[in-house]
Amino acid sequence: MASVRVVLLGPPGAGKGTQGKLLRDRFEACQISTGDILRKAVADKTPLGKEAESYLSRGELVPDDVIVRLVGERLKQKDCANGFVLDGFPRTLPQAESLEEILKTMALPLDAVLSIQVPHDVIVQRLAGRRNCQNCGALYHVNFDPPSNGETCDRCDGGLQQRDDDREETITTRLRVYESQTAPLANYYRERGKLREINGVGKVEDIQKRIVEALGRPAS
Ligand code: AMP
Repeated sequence: MASVRVVLLGPPGAGKGTQGKLLRDRFEACQISTGDILRKAVADKTPLGKEAESYLSRGELVPDDVIVRLVGERLKQKDCANGFVLDGFPRTLPQAESLEEILKTMALPLDAVLSIQVPHDVIVQRLAGRRNCQNCGALYHVNFDPPSNGETCDRCDGGLQQRDDDREETITTRLRVYESQTAPLANYYRERGKLREINGVGKVEDIQKRIVEALGRPAS
């Protein structure tokens, strides 16, 4: 199995989580979603969770040093031996620079940074209807991808919930933070020849196909 080392870049609601899970399964890589790690830490009331909680609830970014340490440790774990899909990291220029250092030390250069492009109105629609299973984390959308019985998870029958930060007030802050702090990373990676722009509108399978093609690994 060929390895893969990619960053998924894109605003909240671009589909990074959905596409990241598919890439993880396709390439037997690990998926590192900093948002998922932080939400779990908050739920488990760990020291990291206590530190991160107020940033998450406001839709603001957790300090760079906390996140960089977390990802650096995660990348060393066994399930990342065949590659990684970074979902939600890096999100600032200092995070991107730290990642470059970490990967240099590990002699694991990035294959590509996939910038998933979705118009603003589609993002707002997607975020407002997004739900996830409290038990297994599976993702749904009340209109575009509802569970078959309309209420509980198809995979494990768990209850569905809306993320606290998917409420309207916080969505606005998250999109503003994305534009000011994360969007400039596109240039950083373009200058390094790593950026691949992906049209993120359409069916999940079609977007995955575009991603795999952009990686130069057409679907078999
Ligand atoms: P996400 O699930 O990727 O939308 O992330 C949810 C929240 O977790 C963000 O709004 C931030 O508060 C925090 N977060 C996730 N990733 C990062 C990161 N790389 N840097 C700083 N904060 C992050």
